[in-house]
Amino acid sequence: MVFSVSEIAKIVQGEILGNRAFSEQKINHIITDSRTFFRSEKALFFALSGPRNNGHQYISALIEKGVNAFVISDKSVANNNATFIWVKNTTAALQKLAAFHRQQFNFPLIGITGSNGKTIVKEWLHDVLCNRFKIIRSPKSYNSQIGVPLSVLLMQGNFDLAIFEAGISQPNEMKKLAEILSPEIGILTNIGDAHQENFISIRQKIQEKLQLFRKSKQLIFNVDNKTVSNEVEKFCAENSIEPIPWTLKNNPANIRFSAKTKYGSTTIKAEIGETKYQFIIPFSDDSALENSCHCFATAHLLLEDPGLILKEFEKLGTVEMRLEIKQGINNCLLVNDYYNSDLNSLAIALSVLHQQAAKEHLYKKVILSDIQQTGLPQKELYRRVNKLLTEWKIDEVIGIGPAISAFSDEFVMNKKCYPSITSFQQNFIRKQFGNSAILIKGARQFTFEKISEMLQQKTHQTELEINLNALVHNLNVFRNRLKPETKIMVMVKAFSYGSGDVEIAKLLQYQNVDYLAVAVADEGLQLRNAGIKTPIIVMNPEQSSFQNMIEYQLEPNLYSVELIGNFQKTVAQNGLQDFPVHLKIDTGMNRLGLKSETEIQEAIQLIASNNWIKIKSVFSHLAASDEPQLDDFTKSQFANFESFSALISSSFSHKIDRHILNSAGIERFPEKQFEMVRLGIGLYGVSITGLSLENIGTLKSTVSQVKTVASGETVGYGRKGEMAVESKIAIVPLGYADGLDRKLGNKKGAAFINGKRVPIVGNICMDM
Ligand SMILES: *Cc1c(COP(=O)(O)O)cnc(C)c1O
Repeated sequence: MVFSVSEIAKIVQGEILGNRAFSEQKINHIITDSRTFFRSEKALFFALSGPRNNGHQYISALIEKGVNAFVISDKSVANNNATFIWVKNTTAALQKLAAFHRQQFNFPLIGITGSNGKTIVKEWLHDVLCNRFKIIRSPKSYNSQIGVPLSVLLMQGNFDLAIFEAGISQPNEMKKLAEILSPEIGILTNIGDAHQENFISIRQKIQEKLQLFRKSKQLIFNVDNKTVSNEVEKFCAENSIEPIPWTLKNNPANIRFSAKTKYGSTTIKAEIGETKYQFIIPFSDDSALENSCHCFATAHLLLEDPGLILKEFEKLGTVEMRLEIKQGINNCLLVNDYYNSDLNSLAIALSVLHQQAAKEHLYKKVILSDIQQTGLPQKELYRRVNKLLTEWKIDEVIGIGPAISAFSDEFVMNKKCYPSITSFQQNFIRKQFGNSAILIKGARQFTFEKISEMLQQKTHQTELEINLNALVHNLNVFRNRLKPETKIMVMVKAFSYGSGDVEIAKLLQYQNVDYLAVAVADEGLQLRNAGIKTPIIVMNPEQSSFQNMIEYQLEPNLYSVELIGNFQKTVAQNGLQDFPVHLKIDTGMNRLGLKSETEIQEAIQLIASNNWIKIKSVFSHLAASDEPQLDDFTKSQFANFESFSALISSSFSHKIDRHILNSAGIERFPEKQFEMVRLGIGLYGVSITGLSLENIGTLKSTVSQVKTVASGETVGYGRKGEMAVESKIAIVPLGYADGLDRKLGNKKGAAFINGKRVPIVGNICMDM
């Protein structure tokens, strides 16, 4: 980016307000999320306002951090401490700026859309082509109305190929992305059911996605799905685009593929006219096959001889290999990113490292491999790396590789360099790694997973691994079913359904959920001690913990008149007023709650008679939201809830939120969302109606011993596991003491070993 604030104002047709002192300042980077940001010089903050968040509210905090240029749509926030560009719509302004920036470059731009596979096709295309082109691509899965402009704004003159993905969830969004990207080459990946709820038909969804390619020259797609290929061919004819169809099923197409799978890898043959090619991918699933066909077709279009890059397909990796956070040895925290290495992904990884280190004031170390294929002269490249490391206040860099070693003089911080990973391993001293946040970042051929292995804390052979990306995915699936203004309370009781309370609460706070709910006060205390500021409600408040709850701002669920009276007394003793509380009504579950109108009237009188506590919300709990045959009962609960909550609301002048839906309730009765919902098991991956949720937890262990057991012999206590045939048995150090339910023994449960499903034979023992 080379524009000044005033040039940007012109491009986005905005008006400059506030202090003009910074209007000729050149802008270096764009920020839209104040949470991840700390480099303030030459930054321009776009105050985006979405249904759940409004960027304008972070402006004064950002000014304090030194940001001095903003794009706003709310005139009233402008002041004399910074320069403001005032526009009607900040998202539209960001898109306009990106579209303008894109027009400065005329190297080919590939646009990828479709329901599935966008990110993988983008990453794989990069991997197979990166020795031939200097590629700029969307970071992570930046494919939204905001992610696409942010990606495009990273374009610079030293690249010669751009690969960007575009995603939509509703009609009319693609047109805007098309204006920003105007891709020369299009790839339409697989069309599935994702986001189908917002489209009338699958044809409408395809037509909408195709809008990305209106001005493209060529369009690559799979002809094997008739609905898709009909639409695409029509679209290409109408817009004079050259169609580039490929097939895996012998349909008429430019490129005909055939595939054979063996031992987890697939050999793919491609025929183009008379010419034949063959390549191998290290995967055996259908989507990997499809994604690699797209990559081959694109490579064929870009290169005179795709034969040159066939070897690259064998090295493709899974896209999950990036940015994972692990506990390291000696109180270290590891940020692993060893899938690839370039300046943009380095900047993203550094921001994650910074975030992680800041929480615990850790020393910041970066282990970095040579950076390849940037198109920059080496000296300039490592000068830029040094600049990034300095900006992110990195304390120490460890360079691994011949190039980074040769240019180590460029680094101004503490540094060590090794020509290869082997020499790093030979010189490794454990105690030199302590109390640090360590970013381990290298291109794949450097096999930095070995370094992570050395630095990772290993205390157990058995681990429950929680995938936080899957958790965020699940949260968004539920969010998308709710009105934007509906609040979400997430249940993190019982150690977040067994998944780790603090880690999950931190993530949920970052995702701006409105409330967290715990079962008992101690759980809430734990979260407050870990720095959680989100409002917390305690479902079973005990008299003995009232004082703590008040000190730690934990809001009680008051479910009886007696409890209300007692809690009021404690608040009064603390000299406080209007302490936030929640009232629970029993509408048929017959567990906790105020049950009759008399009880409710009594509660109202008690609360209204002084100003010690203030009702934030009234709620009730459904007994059978997941059982359709009991829907009549559920409806009676809704009716009771509506009349009781109306009675309470009408007795107070302030607004009182209402909530009754749990996860299954959100799925089956979205019309009863009122002002808030309480999300529990759905977040952790269980859906009652078959929503596309992701599994968040994987229990992993090791094999202690393998033995062959003859036909007729038995395994374990009670001789329950009798072998019908000679069998190979693995003994795993995991038993009912670890929570593995004994009911899962005797072939009721199963495990995966090297991807193969194997039954649990015999009785489950205590530790095995
Ligand atoms: C646990 C709990 C929930 C969440 O229920 P799920 O079925 O897990 O979604 C909601 N409300 C209350 C009061 C709860 O105790």
